[in-house]
Amino acid sequence: MAAPLAPRPHVMVLPFPAQGHVMPLMELSHRLVHHGLQVVFVNTDFNHGRVLQALAAETGGGGGDAVLPDGIHMVSFPDGMGPDGDRTDIAMLADGLPAAMLGPLQEMIRSRKTRWVIADVSMSWALDLADPAAGVRVALFSTFSAAAFALRLHVPTLIEQGILDECGNVTRNETIRLSPKMPPIEAAEIPWASLSSSPERRKVIIQNLLKTNPAIQQADTVICNTFEAIESEALAMVPHALPVGPLEAAAASRSAGQFWPEDPACLPWLDAQARGSVVYVAFGSFTVFDAARFQELAGGLELTGRPFLWVVRPNFTAGVGEDWFEAFRRRVEGKGLVVGWAPQQRVLSHPAVACFLTHCGWNSTMEGVRHGVPLLCWPYFADQFCNQSYVCNVWRNGVKLCADERGVMTKEEIRSKVARLMGDEETRVRAAVWKDAACASIAEGGSSRLNLLKLVDLLTEQ
Ligand code: UDP
Repeated sequence: MAAPLAPRPHVMVLPFPAQGHVMPLMELSHRLVHHGLQVVFVNTDFNHGRVLQALAAETGGGGGDAVLPDGIHMVSFPDGMGPDGDRTDIAMLADGLPAAMLGPLQEMIRSRKTRWVIADVSMSWALDLADPAAGVRVALFSTFSAAAFALRLHVPTLIEQGILDECGNVTRNETIRLSPKMPPIEAAEIPWASLSSSPERRKVIIQNLLKTNPAIQQADTVICNTFEAIESEALAMVPHALPVGPLEAAAASRSAGQFWPEDPACLPWLDAQARGSVVYVAFGSFTVFDAARFQELAGGLELTGRPFLWVVRPNFTAGVGEDWFEAFRRRVEGKGLVVGWAPQQRVLSHPAVACFLTHCGWNSTMEGVRHGVPLLCWPYFADQFCNQSYVCNVWRNGVKLCADERGVMTKEEIRSKVARLMGDEETRVRAAVWKDAACASIAEGGSSRLNLLKLVDLLTEQ
């Protein structure tokens, strides 16, 4: 009689409740399932509802099914906020999560006999889920660049050097560069110091970072959505880093972690555009534009005279009248397409796309690199300045927009930088070289592919 098959090991995947965290962890989960693991994907109730709603809007389904076609089991728990809580207040959201989630997660680990937890670094309190006696281990996953991670670990030194104080205020402005191939950034642009303009919130964030850094440094494994060739020096500064990126979406399929339904109009529209002609414009899931910035951007896109595909999320701006926006859309009809949410990775891989006007979120940056699309950078907060600096100062696969003396990114600046980037052969070539390096890292025998197999071995070892 054949021996019974060993049960497939259970892994629990725990992203921070934000789009740019849920998506790469979902991509990693798809790969783990493909390699024979069972994955339970944990969202907050709030985001679980959004993900299912977005899926249902696209498939016409009922929205209640929480098992994905490849077998990923999606579950959810409360995040500790009331129904009307402000979930864009990251510090507040992060603060309430451990108390709300730790107990239910421990219970679930026991009942499902989970062996491994893969927790977002921004949920580092989940390191407490490790239970050596019960054989439960925790690996961390970083949704940021290795450079931003290294900077995070460097914050205590910056405080010692008098560049930051313990409340996250800049006490001496200085350019920080941890090594020659890492991005130089101004002290005021350090990711964790620029996360909030409120001094109280900033203090909470920095204090929390100082408290959790030692445990993070002790973690057995830090899975990173990056690759060796593009961040070798930064990766050397992250203890136990395991770069498996870029974690791209499978070519023809939709990622299951999206909070908004994808607009299906984008791809046929791109098919109808000339090769290398379109400006793709998207600012991720968090960035909010006030009316003045929004109108300047709209005016800039119109001025370029080129076809553009612009993602305007439902909560992207407040204060712009529907009449004004409707008149804009009518003026640019035939030239520009505005959508609520795009299949971004498929858009970036489309031959019609010439450049990407981006806020430089790490996922967007990696996706631009992966598809060899030159980047036009307009960062907003957190690690985005660090990513912009990588693009403009180290990799040189893009350029940045510069504000005028009033601090305004003018429509004329947008027009002129788009024109410059579109005509810049050297930047295009460098973007293509990085694309090749990214593709090599995830291809058979590439460094990220081998690291993924190492991870699978680790998660399945008895
Ligand atoms: N994204 C998408 N469609 C859009 C805009 C964004 O699928 O219309 C995805 C994008 O591909 C990326 C993620 O949303 O994977 C945004 O993550 P990022 O780190 O770039 O920015 P954040 O949302 O965290 O600011």
